[in-house]
Formats: sequence, structure tokens, C-alpha cells
Amino acid sequence: MKVRVRFAPSPTGFLHIGGARTALFNWLYARHTGGTFVLRIEDTDAARNTQEAVEVILNGLRWLGLDWDEGPISGDATGASKGDRGPYFQSQRSENYRRRVEALLSRGLAYEHEGAIRFKMSREPVVIPDLVVGNVTRELTDREKLEPDFVIVRSDGQPVFHLVNVIDDLEMGITHVIRGEDHLSNTAKHIALFRAFGVEPPQYAHIPLILNIDGTKMSKRDKGASLMTYVEEGYAPEAVVNYLCLLGWSPKGNREKVPIKEVIELFDLPQILRHNARFDLNKLHWLNGEYIKEMSGDRFHELAVHALARVGIDTNRYDLQYVKAALDTCKQKVKLFSEVPTFADFYFKEEIDHKAQAAETDFAPENKPRLKQLRDAFAQVAKFDADTLNTTLKGVAVSSGASVGVLVHPTRLICTGRTVGPSLYHLLEVLGKERVLQRFDRALEQMG
Ligand code: GLU
Repeated sequence: MKVRVRFAPSPTGFLHIGGARTALFNWLYARHTGGTFVLRIEDTDAARNTQEAVEVILNGLRWLGLDWDEGPISGDATGASKGDRGPYFQSQRSENYRRRVEALLSRGLAYEHEGAIRFKMSREPVVIPDLVVGNVTRELTDREKLEPDFVIVRSDGQPVFHLVNVIDDLEMGITHVIRGEDHLSNTAKHIALFRAFGVEPPQYAHIPLILNIDGTKMSKRDKGASLMTYVEEGYAPEAVVNYLCLLGWSPKGNREKVPIKEVIELFDLPQILRHNARFDLNKLHWLNGEYIKEMSGDRFHELAVHALARVGIDTNRYDLQYVKAALDTCKQKVKLFSEVPTFADFYFKEEIDHKAQAAETDFAPENKPRLKQLRDAFAQVAKFDADTLNTTLKGVAVSSGASVGVLVHPTRLICTGRTVGPSLYHLLEVLGKERVLQRFDRALEQMG
């Protein structure tokens, strides 16, 4: 049997971290088995759905790298490839639902009641076989004992979630429904509907919920609940994906950093953990730093340039080699890409405010002759590289009778405007003689 799974979000304008993990587990299972990953937007609630809300989901999945495999071809169909396909939208499938409801009515499995259409639900407890939580027997609640039948089409003609969800899973040939445990309580209804349509239900795998670190239920308002937080705060998608993999699934040996290729090889449904997962932001933050340290220079470059662009710094105006060298001085030091702008903005500015973060002593009048001496020494060096600049600065310190620090701090301020940043001699090397001397000249002039 060829595996077909789906992610079926409702466009609420928000991609919850739990939803992102559900998408990921479906995608992993499809990739592990060589199956198909379908994306279906459950947008029957027209009042709440907007194109923008759909984009939030699509962008989130794209950011995570979770590509979907099929769907109607969107836009210009000529030469359409995988990426031009889908997703499916329930709002475009009303005809399918209408036909299926007709069939239930004509076979006496559904009936009209006060303008709505109700489904004749089984009067027996339903057993739900589940690959994660085992067999669950769903007894009828007291209310259901009085009235087991439920509405599938409201009196305004709108089909309800249970109905459209099942019809789509059936018509899309879904073999495994992998979704949050909060849907377990709906599954008895779904199984009964499948049987009414004359087919056996797919296999179910309900994934335990994600809790906050203190064990409380994660709500929309909790910090870190939205995937956008991680996009905006400068996480690397590969780190977030790695972390989400470990939220409810675990490879042997307590490993924390597992490349996605390996997760795809190892991932299987029976290994999904049965207990709720706790979301540990500190761990994700740590993992992100590990990913940054170990990622290739090119990947770091790509994500860092993006982070700079977000705050309006356009690196395109600079020579590519210069940008690369500049970013190389940051790679071992930042844990989040959102730190890159404050760490590296000075490389891409023409004017530096050397006084903004300075202490009073940094630019005290008696320092001016020493800084002038240092500027002239920098102008003289044959090779403008970190080692030479280091030796030069130390030489000036000795000959002017000052401590190294008395020169180091103002030099950093003059060239970067900040008190922290990349290693001083390396950043000077990258800035190059011309920029460094210009910055010195401007600062010395302003010292009066
Ligand atoms: N639209 C439902 C949701 O977002 C889908 C449930 C399912 O995966 O079956 O919760």
C-alpha cells in the first residue's frame, strides 16, 4: 500500500507550533515511506477565511521546508512542476460534499430534521484503533445516548467539519490520519461516517499534545506558540525542524542534534511517544546556536543577509567578498540571526556614531594624541591584516605609555560605534585600511 498522508489546517491566521509539528510528522512519514504528502486547507468556514490566513500557513510550511506533493495546478499550468501544485481547498469542493450527502440521504443513512441534515450514528461504542495510543473505545456520552445522531449539514446549507474532513480523506485516498490528540474525541464520528460511505477508515495516529514547560496546556497566547515567532526572532529553520522532530518522537540514545536526512530514515509511527511533550524554549535556543556554529559559511551568509534585510540593511550594495568576510566574523558568536544586525551593522554603514556607547574616559582629551599616533601607525602598515594590526596597536601602546585597553576600546567605538561585536583585529582587517582611516579621521576631527 502506498502511503498517502495529509496536513489539513483551518486557516485561522496563525500557524501554531503544534500544527507545524503535525505537518512535520506527516511529511516525515511520507518521505520515510516514499509516499505522498497532501496539503488541504479546511476553509469551509467562509467568514473566517482570508487569503492572508492561508498565506500564513503556506509561508510557515515553506519556511520549514515541508513541501507538499500534489493538488490542483495553480496559476499558469504550462510547465507546472511540483511546487506549483496545490494545495486543495475545501471551499472549491462543495459539489463533492453535496453528492455524498445525497447518497447518504438516498440510502437512509442520513435524514432531514428542522432544515438541517443529520447522520444516523451507530448506537454502539466505537473502537478506535490508533497506532500511537492503542485501541481506544469511545463510549456514548449521556447526551449521545439520548440523541446519538449528529448534524452533518447545517440548516444554512453549510456542511460541518466532520463530514467534509471524512469525505476528503476518503476521496483523496488518505491511508494514515496523523493529527493532534485533541481530535481523538471526533474520531468515532469519523469512523462511522467512513463505514456509511462503504469504506474502511484509514489508520489513525493521534499525537500527544505540546505543553508549556510547566506542564500547562499551551494556548495561542503563550510565548512561542506561533511559528512566526521563530521566523521573526531569527531562528534557523533547520534548528526549529530538528527541535520539532524531538517533540514527541525520539531516536535512540537521547540524541539532540539529528540531521533531517537521518530523521527521515528513522522516523516511524510506533515510535511516537505516548506522553505529552513539553516545549522548552531554552533548549531550542541552545540548539539554534549549535546549528549556527556548524552550518556552512554559505548557509550562514544566506540567513544573515536575510536578517539584515529585515531591518533595512541592504548588503547588495557591497562587494560580495566583503559581505562574506564581514559575516564570517560573526558566525561563531551569534545564537540567533536577529543578533546579526546589532553585531554587524557597522560593516554596512557609512557613518559611525563613535560616542553613542562610549564611556567618558574613552575619548578624554589626553587620549587624542595616542589615537592620532595609532591612526598614523595603521596608515603605515604594509599588510592590513589582523596579526599586523594587533602588533601595531600594542607597539603604539608601549611607545605612548598607555595600556592596551586605553586604545582598544576607543578603536572599537570609532570603527563600530559599539562596545561589543566581532573580534577587533579581524573586523579591522575586513573593514580595510581605507574605511578604518576614514573612521579615525572623522572621530579625531570631532574630538576637536
Ligand atoms: N482542520 C482540522 C484542524 O485544523 C483538521 C483535523 C484533521 O487533521 O483531521 O484541526
